[in-house]
Amino acid sequence: MKNPSFIETTQNSSKKDTSQKQLRPAKIHWDQQGQPFSEDFNDIYFSADSAIEERRRIFINPGRLQERWQQHEGSFTLVETGFGTGLNFILTWLEWIAFQDSQKDNTQNQAIKNQAGSEQEVSNHLHFISIEKYPLDKDQIAQALALFPQLKHLSVQLTEQYPLLIKGFHSLQFKDQNLSLTLIFDDISSALSQLNGSVDAWYLDGFPPAKNPDMWTDALYVSMAQLSKENTRIATHTADGDVRCALSAAGFELNKVNDGMECEMLHGKFIQSQGPLASTFDTLKPWLQPKPTVIKKIAIIGAGIAGCTTAYALARRGIAVTVIDQHGIATEASGNPQGAMYAKLAAGEATHSEIYVQGYLQSLRWLHQHLETGDGWDNCGLIQLASTEKEALRQKKFIANTNYPKELLHSISAEQASKISGMTMNNGGLFFPEAGWVSPQRLCQQLVKHPLITVEKNHIEDLAEFKKDNGYSHVIIACANQSQKLLKDCYLPTKSIRGQLTYLEQTNGKPQPPIGLKTVLCGKGYIAPAHQGKFCLGASYNIKDDETQMRLSDHQKNFNYLEDFGQEFQQLHQELKEQAAEKFPGRTGFRCTTPDYLPMAGPLINEQAFDQEFTAIRKNLARYPRRAVKFHQGLYLNIGHGSRGLTSAPLCAELIASYICGENFPLAKSHAESLLPARFFIREMVRNKR
Ligand code: SAM
Repeated sequence: MKNPSFIETTQNSSKKDTSQKQLRPAKIHWDQQGQPFSEDFNDIYFSADSAIEERRRIFINPGRLQERWQQHEGSFTLVETGFGTGLNFILTWLEWIAFQDSQKDNTQNQAIKNQAGSEQEVSNHLHFISIEKYPLDKDQIAQALALFPQLKHLSVQLTEQYPLLIKGFHSLQFKDQNLSLTLIFDDISSALSQLNGSVDAWYLDGFPPAKNPDMWTDALYVSMAQLSKENTRIATHTADGDVRCALSAAGFELNKVNDGMECEMLHGKFIQSQGPLASTFDTLKPWLQPKPTVIKKIAIIGAGIAGCTTAYALARRGIAVTVIDQHGIATEASGNPQGAMYAKLAAGEATHSEIYVQGYLQSLRWLHQHLETGDGWDNCGLIQLASTEKEALRQKKFIANTNYPKELLHSISAEQASKISGMTMNNGGLFFPEAGWVSPQRLCQQLVKHPLITVEKNHIEDLAEFKKDNGYSHVIIACANQSQKLLKDCYLPTKSIRGQLTYLEQTNGKPQPPIGLKTVLCGKGYIAPAHQGKFCLGASYNIKDDETQMRLSDHQKNFNYLEDFGQEFQQLHQELKEQAAEKFPGRTGFRCTTPDYLPMAGPLINEQAFDQEFTAIRKNLARYPRRAVKFHQGLYLNIGHGSRGLTSAPLCAELIASYICGENFPLAKSHAESLLPARFFIREMVRNKR
């Protein structure tokens, strides 16, 4: 059988996005002590008066975490089955802070050393991955954790970022902390099958086998063995005989321990020689496994949204980076003063929707962390208008096929759209209450303020020479349509699409735009509420057009978009038509798009070598050779964000940082494969088109 993730990640994919329908929130009630009780499993999540001590005894102390972190280099991955209220995560985070405090001098020395440009030690990073099939919502998490006022400083940070109940991966970063939380809302076995990296410790939580037999399955033990390595620790609250046998058979050496409170539990570690013989290439495609390169110096070419977010993702892991751009920070497509930030989701394309929804939620978290509302962004909401019959039908179908929470998006009538936008709307549409507009330049400027990021103005002509002469171990190419010039040997089927914006101002003697617009409106074009007296209207869409100068005809095309934005803007359109010969302010930029409208983010394979060594995939992709792929050592790409960079760039940045640092990905491995730059090359081989 052919690999579905490659074949189906095409523009014409017919895989329906019905996954969201399968997520079911936890059914709980609060007992007399105010503790959460699971109606699904007929059990308590914890007993508040003893929970902290008990969790330490069962999960944290046996893992000997501080001792192991001391000996560990790079990212330490801990996987928990059953996030529940997040108490285990908070207690582990507390332990992590104590460890970081004990290492303070080391960490500071290392940052200085990293800036000096010698071999960089990647400081320890804790990646806590927790899987939850029946998640509590944000308010329930806050209520449960309020039972532990001593943990408030951390639980507040968790609840601030806690995601909407949407199936799949949610990657959370905490400002200035070398810790990530990936929450996967899914069943244990499908979630584990989407992890790419190895695990250093397991917390097997989840209700006990007697109450939750569906979780303690063979699939769980097989995945655990595949993801474990020598000495991977395991801790669980149960000492059930079947669990013990299954874990032993999977390769874990176990101790049954009495916790001193009349309960038995299991601790243990994985012994590689007793585990499965399978190759890592069976569970993870070789093209997703670049050989780790020692980090010495990292350069990012391109200081737009893709480059600056990648720089930040690395810097927050303690890695010094230099961002190089011939023009400075966010001057090209990312230089638009107001970009509409939302995800245009397609009902029939699950992979697209999943990636863009995850990216959108992650971008919102980054914006809240890095910008003040009103200073470079405004989450004033956004309406995707159903301004044609075709679009209305598409939206109707989309809502019928998906089941996203209303906080993400919901349908609104023309009357509701008028109330929300402050304009007299002829149509309703889809409302994204948390979306809005962003100044990508302001975001980029904020991100590169990180002390480990240096910005350099320079034009790079020859990549190989530049990399060698400057001793860069890693270079990330993030310069959109100009990337092909630097990567002559790589197949980058991107398309440049010119976009021109028109600025409308309240200027004397000119038609006056209505000032009461309260939300971003998207129809065939978009308009954002006035910022500093200026409306941003755009953007034209010109294929095969490299004209950098503005054109009156494109301003006129933009004016036609006003017809979608309600009666006040239609009136403005009439007035502007009479002034057709006017010169208007605005700017032009060039989007960089890909054939399947997903970004290209990841390592670069040596296509010539791949073509020869992996020729077997022309017959059958599933029979790909189980051997290492030759990559362009230390070279990564982050381009192809089209006009959705605000939604996709932070997630792609975290993905690239995770490749470089050898961490588990922040998204499903099938999604990483859908973003792999070489996917177009591989698809063409599979289809015998090359
Ligand atoms: N670790 C949690 C904490 O610190 O609050 C407590 C976990 S609670 C005892 C067990 C959790 O496992 C529940 O939230 C439950 O929904 C989840 N769970 C049960 N079966 C599952 C499955 N098959 N896949 C994923 N999660 C599951």
